[in-house]
Amino acid sequence: MPSPTPTLTTLDVLERARRAGASLAGVASIAALYDSPSYGEHARSQRPSAFKSALVLALAHSESEPELDWWGVPGGTAGNRKLAEIARRLAGELRDAFGVDSHLLPYAIEKGGAYLKDAAVLAGLGIIGANNLLITPQFGPRVRTRALLLDIELPPASALDFAPCDACDRPCWRACPQGAFPAGSYSKSLCNVQMKTDEARAVSLVKYCRACELACPVGREQDCT
Ligand code: SF4
Ligand code: SF4
Repeated sequence: MPSPTPTLTTLDVLERARRAGASLAGVASIAALYDSPSYGEHARSQRPSAFKSALVLALAHSESEPELDWWGVPGGTAGNRKLAEIARRLAGELRDAFGVDSHLLPYAIEKGGAYLKDAAVLAGLGIIGANNLLITPQFGPRVRTRALLLDIELPPASALDFAPCDACDRPCWRACPQGAFPAGSYSKSLCNVQMKTDEARAVSLVKYCRACELACPVGREQDCT
């Protein structure tokens, strides 16, 4: 008689995610993920139905490893490839040891991805800061994320009680070369101007602006510098 499949808890999954190389990990409810305000009707038809939980994985992107963020090689940035590899390793382990089926969401929304900042907030990894980025207590905004859908129900994380911007005088806004926070909120069009400038300036790899990210003091003590 085959031995029963062992039970898997959220703690087991998070511990295995960290052992696979994730800097942070948390569970979000799939329903909440696709109901998040950014989603609207966009790609709703591509929502996978067989899965019950979303595991959000984060990888720290220290200022001392800028190459993790450089674009221009197939497969996205080195950081993205590393995160995808962590997710694949973890997925293989969960399948082999627990029979759990999983699906790594593509990075791009138009290819069926999710809004990863929202997902990370729902997974209790951080909050959205005044610089419009995910801010984690451990690494500030210097993280990148991917999401792995799982076909098992895991209780989602609670919202984080964390408000670092309340007592901060906005070095992130002052660092922006485009003044992209003109009325106290993020202007995507002004930020896009900088993206185009960065692309035009690139020799082979594109090194996008991270000024509002690198100016943030949160999590500096744990930055892997
Ligand atoms: S620099 Fe300050 S205001 Fe800006 S995101 Fe970080 S904590 Fe918030
Ligand atoms: S990425 Fe650069 S241009 Fe865009 S908002 Fe941040 S600092 Fe400004």
